[in-house]
Amino acid sequence: MASLGLCELGRTGLRVSKLAFGASPLGNVFGDVKEEDAIASVHEAARLGINFFDTSPYYGGTLAEQVLGKALKTLPLPRDSYIVSSKCGRYIDGFDFSATRVTQSVDESLARLNLSYIDIMQCHDIEFGSLDQIITETIPALLKLKESGKIRFIGITGLPLKIFKYVLERVPEGTIDVVLSYCHYSLNDTALEDLIPYLKSKGVGIISASPLSMGLLTGNGPPSWHPAPKELQAACAEAAAYCKKNGQNISKLAIQFALENHDIATTLVGMNSMEQVKENVRACIEIQNGQLMEMAILKDIKGILEPVKNLTWPSGREEN
Ligand code: NAD
Repeated sequence: MASLGLCELGRTGLRVSKLAFGASPLGNVFGDVKEEDAIASVHEAARLGINFFDTSPYYGGTLAEQVLGKALKTLPLPRDSYIVSSKCGRYIDGFDFSATRVTQSVDESLARLNLSYIDIMQCHDIEFGSLDQIITETIPALLKLKESGKIRFIGITGLPLKIFKYVLERVPEGTIDVVLSYCHYSLNDTALEDLIPYLKSKGVGIISASPLSMGLLTGNGPPSWHPAPKELQAACAEAAAYCKKNGQNISKLAIQFALENHDIATTLVGMNSMEQVKENVRACIEIQNGQLMEMAILKDIKGILEPVKNLTWPSGREEN
């Protein structure tokens, strides 16, 4: 297979693969995954040129980090050839963005991941905390960890897009290296587009996650916990069925659509099998080679999704 393209991640100097590995499925978030399959998926992803892996202690109550850690331990590659991001502040038992908890959390993640440093440490779903605490307490704690060499770069993640600007406006430029937005750059929701010029002006690396809208844009449909409103779930199911009837794969179309945006450095797709890894890498290479998506089917799908375009769901504290 041809190699995957690499992209500069903001001003970090990191060069990330356009298609990146989301490890939340390794925590059984989308259904049970055998450990050997999970590890094989990570190894296959790395073999095929994916160099960026994202996880969190929240996924599967630390399980995703543990399994990714096992996979990384046996990865036959030098440590500086791949990039790992994890998160802090969100745990299976709730949110805690205090300096004490996140400092301890980074040590715990390092141990589970079998790493001596984590490339990117992100405050996880900050809309559930006090944004002012993130600015005055969490980020300063992460800056200390950056100085100590335990982490290299700092990021923030969440669903509502306005949280990113709130924080970026209130910290010195260069403090936040990356933002991770999810479910806002996909076939059904492109709200992230409006924020891109601002993020670029701040020199922040843009990570977009969940191009399959956390399972909505798959043949199997979303998990039962999916927070999308019923009409969004129904429209995506209709789009998936339409694709299937026309001999197309909704997931492939959705991934290719997401990867075509060159302002987004990297797109995280949750993967839990070697087959999904292979399929998604193939979809990425097709786009890189300039193979255009089936325009007719894409137009029809966009038509089906138009009534629910950018429809999202509430997330986090009301004041955020
Ligand atoms: P996603 O949109 O990537 O969808 C994942 C689902 O699609 C899984 O069920 C997976 O098995 C399935 N899938 C993947 N490739 C497929 C294919 N070719 N055919 C059929 N099904 C396929 O959603 P996600 O996993 O939630 O997002 C990707 C990653 O981004 C996560 O794993 C996580 O690392 C990160 N993320 C972070 C946040 C946050 O920080 N708040 C939120 C969401 C996601």
